[in-house]
Amino acid sequence: LLDVDGLTKRFGGLVAVDDFSFEVDRGEIVGLIGPNGSGKSTVFNCIMGRYDVTAGSVRFDGDDITDDATHEVVDRGLSRVSQESNPIDRYPVAGNIKLFTLPNSVFSFYGGASDEEIYEYAARIDLEDKLQAMPDELPHADVRRLEIAKALATEPDLLLLDEPFAGMNQAEIDALATQIERFREEGMTMVVVDHNMGGLMDLVDRVVVLNNGEKLAAGSPERIAENERVQEAYLAGE
Ligand code: ATP
Ligand code: MG
Repeated sequence: LLDVDGLTKRFGGLVAVDDFSFEVDRGEIVGLIGPNGSGKSTVFNCIMGRYDVTAGSVRFDGDDITDDATHEVVDRGLSRVSQESNPIDRYPVAGNIKLFTLPNSVFSFYGGASDEEIYEYAARIDLEDKLQAMPDELPHADVRRLEIAKALATEPDLLLLDEPFAGMNQAEIDALATQIERFREEGMTMVVVDHNMGGLMDLVDRVVVLNNGEKLAAGSPERIAENERVQEAYLAGE
């Protein structure tokens, strides 16, 4: 479904992502892990058209999307949950979700999803009881759920999740992992980023490891967990 080939991104003299390739098949959950600063979010920003790539290509469902703008990438069926939450504080949860269903560049609340559809998006991530809440009243885990609901509202085939478990307690992590499993059963393909090896290893089919912008290893969670080069890279980052 997704084919990233030779992706390179430089910021001035810094090579954030260096000749990085990976593929995601339809229906898979792929983990993308690596120490802080290894380039994970930059890979997502390049896929989503937020950053121009320095070299390499991104294909989605057979089409070259390397130079697409973000709204074009979203229209094709990709969506990304950012590492940072950015709800609009003057709108309740429902309004924040609705904004992501409006036609592009239309700054009004006309059109977009119906109240029933917004309820359904929220229900897929257990947020349907909080639709009238304001974002700044929500606990952290619910703010992160809102970010996921916003991404679901664009009805993606491929969902990129950047550090979805960050800042959550174990019960919240378990609940979110269960929901991510449910998205897979509903037919969604996902790439899940985490900066450590813990949380997502039980969830994913395959793991790709980034270190200093380069692919260090790829394989099953079991093989990655016992890979010495991966362990060394993590120790070096501490
Ligand atoms: P973390 O686990 O902390 O989220 P990461 O793996 O997502 O890290 P990136 O955010 O992709 O890492 O950053 C990779 C490198 O690129 C870092 O050295 C970072 O400082 C640099 N970088 C990322 N975005 C920019 C930018 N817009 N301008 C300049 N440098 C950037
Ligand atoms: Mg990041």
